[in-house]
Amino acid sequence: MPQITSVQYLKGIGPKRAKSFAARGINTIEDLLYYFPRRYEDRTNFTDISGLKEGEVYTIKARVLAGGQRSSWRRRRFSITEAALEDDTGKINCVWFNQPYLKEYLKPGVSLILYGKVEVYNGRLQMNNPEYEFIDKEGDDSLNIGRIVPVYPLPQGTSQRSMRRLIKDSLNKFLPKLKDYLPFDLRSRNHLLNLAQSLLNIHFPLDMPMQKQALTRLSFEEFFIFQLPIVLRKLKRKEKKGIKHVVNGKLIADFIRNLPFKLTLAQQKVLEEIKTDMSSGEVMQRLLQGDVGSGKTVVATLACLTAIQSGYQAAFMAPTEILARQHYTKISSQLSAITFSGRRLRVGLLTGQDKQKDKIYRELKDGKIDLIIGTHALLQEELDFKALSFIVIDEQHKFGVGQRALLPKKGNNPDVLIMTATPIPRTLAITLYGDLDISVINGLPAGRIPVKTLHFSQQSREKGFAIAKQELSYGRQAYVIYPVIEESYALDIAGAKKMFAELKEGQFKGFRVGLVHGKMKTKEQEEVMLKFRNKELDLLVSTTILEVGIDIPNATCMVVAYAERFGLSQLHQLRGRIGRGNLQSFCVLISDAQSEEARLRLQAMVSSCDGFRISEEDLKIRGPGEFFGRRQHGLTELKIANPLTQMQLLKKAREEALRLISGDPGLSLRQNIQLKERLLQRFPEYEKFMAVG
Ligand code: ADP
Ligand code: MG
Repeated sequence: MPQITSVQYLKGIGPKRAKSFAARGINTIEDLLYYFPRRYEDRTNFTDISGLKEGEVYTIKARVLAGGQRSSWRRRRFSITEAALEDDTGKINCVWFNQPYLKEYLKPGVSLILYGKVEVYNGRLQMNNPEYEFIDKEGDDSLNIGRIVPVYPLPQGTSQRSMRRLIKDSLNKFLPKLKDYLPFDLRSRNHLLNLAQSLLNIHFPLDMPMQKQALTRLSFEEFFIFQLPIVLRKLKRKEKKGIKHVVNGKLIADFIRNLPFKLTLAQQKVLEEIKTDMSSGEVMQRLLQGDVGSGKTVVATLACLTAIQSGYQAAFMAPTEILARQHYTKISSQLSAITFSGRRLRVGLLTGQDKQKDKIYRELKDGKIDLIIGTHALLQEELDFKALSFIVIDEQHKFGVGQRALLPKKGNNPDVLIMTATPIPRTLAITLYGDLDISVINGLPAGRIPVKTLHFSQQSREKGFAIAKQELSYGRQAYVIYPVIEESYALDIAGAKKMFAELKEGQFKGFRVGLVHGKMKTKEQEEVMLKFRNKELDLLVSTTILEVGIDIPNATCMVVAYAERFGLSQLHQLRGRIGRGNLQSFCVLISDAQSEEARLRLQAMVSSCDGFRISEEDLKIRGPGEFFGRRQHGLTELKIANPLTQMQLLKKAREEALRLISGDPGLSLRQNIQLKERLLQRFPEYEKFMAVG
């Protein structure tokens, strides 16, 4: 019931407040009950002012002696509000910046609770910008004093006190009606608190051990609900009948013999894993993790050939047109010297722009194309295969779950290989991509020299460009990357053009400079890329469309302008465009990073070239919610559970999900009805998610 009751029906919430609550994601009573404190204050005992130590954080209770305002020397820029406060043991000064309205409330005799770090200023104790709460003389203060008190992230126009009251009233009213959707035996097996106790103690903990238990239960619940669909998918897949491919044919052997290099041990190992899957009667769903430049493409190509030599068709999907074309060109040329059953292999390319679309559709349907390489265009409904048995999805993080699931439907339970250059720690991968099997290519082909990464400020960016110029003078090529984001698209494109013009006429005068950006026609983009690939251009100014996949080994330098505007994984991907041959490459990050986060990102880039370490760092900086986002899983972000710090709990939740689903795949047993409701409500696309696969 509470999940559908709007908060607007609660006492004290009118349309206006309801709006500010909605901005925080609180629409229903249930949202409110699941709106968790960001921290707690132990107000069972306040520290006496006489006992305060410099440099520590305290919660104290004090009375105002005198309050006032002082304008600072920077007068108009900010105001300073001061108050002298005391308790029975001593005095302390408090200072607030830019909260002029506070003056009105800081009248002598008024009592407050203050939370902040104690410093010493002019020989006296002082708190700067402490969090404060006025004590309500009239009202009942049982929620705010004498206990462990929750502190919430506040919706606009709401105070801590009214938030506590609101949540407490809702708990009182709705907890008795709330049914626990975790089945009893599961709870007792895992020593989990029941739902009512958990919600009560996450908001108003009896003590901190109880808070911890509540946190455990609520985190478990999130993980569990998150795992259910994944586990169900995995089990469903096991029931399907897959295609048994011929894995050790002549085609494969010929192809490997014709490669200009030897497969690394890691590539061979992964290839074996794929062969085992492809020859078995089960449907393969394998995630191939491997750093940028680790050589995933050739492994995927070999898997495609496995399908073809078994008499089927294969499809290779890439997220951008440039990348699809690159794969097409490279794979076509690798296959040009090879025949199979007395004929050449037929490779096709399909992108959104194709005029030959109808012809390609026909050839796919008639089985005249063995391997089709393309973009999202492959997902078109009209497109049909004669006998599709294998699919590669390159750079999977660029596709949504829904999209990824569309292509396999065009075959009869085809095997699927999903590739990513944004690897995550293995243990995490197993649980988060729990419906997939996982392979890892660790390490890069021999002879690669790690890219040197340097950071320059805007002011000294000339020095950064000088490195690129140096490389060009050796006959090598370089990229300059300019950030373009949706929010400021037109402006950013203009910025990229301007930078192009400046570089061309300025520092790089005499070199052949090209520009490629997302607003150009695909054909124009193609032409520029081709020129660069053919060494008819020395320097390529590009927007982020270069981010994934592009493979031009002679490019040995990349300058990233406004590097702070990129995410960490994105920067690593970009950097992966260089260092692809046997030459020392240089990545130059130009940035006046302001925020702490941006600084951390740049630091991580300078200090490591290892994609696994980078993504771990990224995960730490952004937190799991942002890192995985909706795109990846279509799952509601985790609110309280943290896969990084609660790995064990996540594993347990996964085991329990497996156990429950094995016993009741449709979640139709009586004790699981609540759970199913909860699942549908937290994850409305659940049934759609289940239908694909
Ligand atoms: P990614 O894993 O980022 O997709 P690619 O598959 O594009 O990387 O490979 C990067 C480059 O390394 C390509 O030019 C490819 O031909 C080359 N390569 C792949 N495997 C090997 C190997 N075993 N030895 C040397 N070079 C290799
Ligand atoms: Mg690739």
